[in-house]
Amino acid sequence: MATLLKDVRRLSDSEPVCVRVAGDTIDRVGTLDDIWSAGDEIVDAGGKLALPGFVNAHTHLPMVLLRGLADDVPLATWLERHVWPIERALRPEDVHWCALLALAESIRCGVVAVADMYFHNDAIARAVTESGVRALLSYGMIAPSLAAGGREELEKTERFADTWDGASDGRIRVAVSPHAVYTCGEDVWRESIALAVRRDLLVHTHLSETRGEVDDWRKKTGLTPPAYLEQIGALAAPTLAAHCTHVTAEDVDLFARRGVRVAHCPKSNAKLGSGTAPLSAFRAGGVATAVGTDGAASNDRLDVLEELRFACLLARAGAERVGALSARDALGMATHEGRLALGLPKANVEAGDPADIVLVEVEGAHTAPRHDAASTLVFASQSSDVTDVFVAGRPLLRERKLLAFDEERVQLEVARLAARLRRN
Ligand SMILES: [Zn+2]
Repeated sequence: MATLLKDVRRLSDSEPVCVRVAGDTIDRVGTLDDIWSAGDEIVDAGGKLALPGFVNAHTHLPMVLLRGLADDVPLATWLERHVWPIERALRPEDVHWCALLALAESIRCGVVAVADMYFHNDAIARAVTESGVRALLSYGMIAPSLAAGGREELEKTERFADTWDGASDGRIRVAVSPHAVYTCGEDVWRESIALAVRRDLLVHTHLSETRGEVDDWRKKTGLTPPAYLEQIGALAAPTLAAHCTHVTAEDVDLFARRGVRVAHCPKSNAKLGSGTAPLSAFRAGGVATAVGTDGAASNDRLDVLEELRFACLLARAGAERVGALSARDALGMATHEGRLALGLPKANVEAGDPADIVLVEVEGAHTAPRHDAASTLVFASQSSDVTDVFVAGRPLLRERKLLAFDEERVQLEVARLAARLRRN
């Protein structure tokens, strides 16, 4: 049976259209009379905006557990005294519940795909499977050398890829994640790239996140982190690089030349006091730039729409120019460029596209009157205006009700886990 979304508005439409979803694909777009078939389930969208859904291009889903925990202490203290002791105590089932909580929030924010880097990845992959979203999942490898744990880290990644790459009807892809230049030795990086090339996997890493990282790396190698990766041949596989907060003009050229996709994480960079990435330079240089929330511990939300608004305002304030990022281009970062960054096929709510569709209500007092749909979305809409989410044709949210899994149970389990961790 097909589903027919009646009277939706795409960004490019002046008049509402109907969109017919058959299986995992949009098979027709047009007037009701033209595309309706007997037996179709009709969903009256009543003029809601229809988007291909947002992509969160860099996150650590289970870190919702650490949301709001000791967030006013310096980064090193925060990691050593608060984050790592809790993470060491986490069991796979804990990670599963936390990932589901993060996915409930993500779906409610209109997110259809996420790039996640964490550990206990089987548990995360199970949560993604239940949730119905698309995901690029990876194990964050940390090892100073192959001999000092690197071999085992790479084996974990390869085992994870054996089980999960292409799983859940192709919704899950696996990436290779050396965590960063400063947490993985050169031989670990080289082997990671060899694995990515051999298995046709993306590389997902953190790059030039803080000024301290870049200064240290220059002292150690004479090179910026991106230039170092280029020198050791580590940009040979398609790479998704998170943050890229402190980069040079040469780094930006290198990204463009090597096709490095950037996951811009402006809120996390701001909250952690890391700085502001040169978004205008990325865009002017032709670097594919998506947006990511990073983990909830440094955000505190997994709200891509809010991330977009922040990115747009920050870019304009920094450049002292409204043209630094238009609302339409900002939406492109969260949709088309996000899909490109994760290696997903394009989707634009057109016939033949994957049926990834998010409906957004624009009838609220805070969005009235609607002069321009892109501007309304980026500057006025809230994520709670998202009413429906379909991924690969499957409804995950309908009229703001989460269908994919039991959200109350998930909240209860995470509350129990948080209480247990507080007692320890
Ligand atoms: Zn991160």
